[in-house]
Amino acid sequence: MRCVALDGTGGPDVLVPGTCSMPEPGHGDLLVRVRACGVCGHDLLARSGALAAGHGAVLGHEIAGEVVAAGSDVEVDLVGRRVALVQRIPCGRCDECAAGLTTLCRQGPGFYGEDVPGGYAEYVLASPRNVVPVPDTIPDAAAAILSCAVGTGWRALRRAGTAPGDVVLVTGAGGGVGVHAVELAKHLGATVVALTGTAAKEKRLLELGADAVLVSPDTRAVRDCVRDLGGRRGADVALELTGGPTFRTALRALGPRGRLVLIGNTEPGTLPLEPGLAILKELTVYGSAHADATDLADVVGLVASGAVMPVPARTWALEDASAAHAAVERREVTGRAVLVP
Ligand SMILES: [Zn+2]
Ligand SMILES: [Zn+2]
Repeated sequence: MRCVALDGTGGPDVLVPGTCSMPEPGHGDLLVRVRACGVCGHDLLARSGALAAGHGAVLGHEIAGEVVAAGSDVEVDLVGRRVALVQRIPCGRCDECAAGLTTLCRQGPGFYGEDVPGGYAEYVLASPRNVVPVPDTIPDAAAAILSCAVGTGWRALRRAGTAPGDVVLVTGAGGGVGVHAVELAKHLGATVVALTGTAAKEKRLLELGADAVLVSPDTRAVRDCVRDLGGRRGADVALELTGGPTFRTALRALGPRGRLVLIGNTEPGTLPLEPGLAILKELTVYGSAHADATDLADVVGLVASGAVMPVPARTWALEDASAAHAAVERREVTGRAVLVP
């Protein structure tokens, strides 16, 4: 089958089109023909060598496709169905899986692009535990980004107990997770302040429902904006999608009992958490991983009902993965870049 594999790590040109051996569905597996695969910031980190992926790895964990075959003991009849995939395949047997905490499972096949070959290819293996059927009203490119680019924000907003009337800060709002987090927070009845480093993304974020968009603001500008929008003593929730670059600003913009959710980690390293601030304001810091199948099913429902519009920005042919990476790296893409095999 056709695929794009890493020829070492480095710039976009290490993404080299070629061929890979076709995956064979074993017991419990589904064979999925990839119809679209999103290009995540995580893929850029993996390609550049910041993560575990190395020579020969096939990246891509934002996958939608069609189930074309199933292992002999797969009980649910999914062959022929269009599906969106959760990016990690859980084992279904460990204590975490038994407790419904499948994002914490580390005994299953694992994460696409790292533990198992990913979606920069014509076919991937999946499991009934990580696929959710998608109605025909949701196109392939949109379906591909439902789990990572939409479900991640959905899970984070729910982790933070986001409620109507909350003021929600979204950092890195112009990226794939960010644009959808803005939409989802509005859907939950929040007032949304979007932070972006790119002025060109301001208009689109306002169209998606942001109540205010701040371009590379300092802490004071964020606090003033939150106050003007009714957050008297600060924001209720901050979704931290970039990590290092905006952490201090997001933390300082929170009001009493504010909840900060760490999601993105674009510059891996340590963050300056000020204990005095956390103690006196009784702040809560959450980590929130990727969506699980329940989150993904929620998101499929939200999109099918029109409550949220996925924003697959542009599509590229699979063979042009390096061009897609380069465009994302230049921050030209508002929303998600998607590869189509
Ligand atoms: Zn992703
Ligand atoms: Zn498990």
